[in-house]
Amino acid sequence: MIKITFCPTCGSSNIKKVRKDWSDNFRGQQYIVPSLEFYECPDCGEKIYDREAMRKIEAISPAYSKKREKKVELMLEEQE
Ligand SMILES: [Zn+2]
Repeated sequence: MIKITFCPTCGSSNIKKVRKDWSDNFRGQQYIVPSLEFYECPDCGEKIYDREAMRKIEAISPAYSKKREKKVELMLEEQE
């Protein structure tokens, strides 16, 4: 986990690491990443995700599901 001591957006030192269910919307479809660790600034609402957090979001987000489907299609084609 990266260490962040101040908010890159507003410079606040109140920014802190949180661990909670993270939810977002993609084209009206809501999805939740359970107990995600990321930094949140209480002053400006900025959220910062490190690589590990991004991977978790990508694994669940429908915004990235098309990539996975394509991979599966390619694998199926190779088997034929
Ligand atoms: Zn901030």
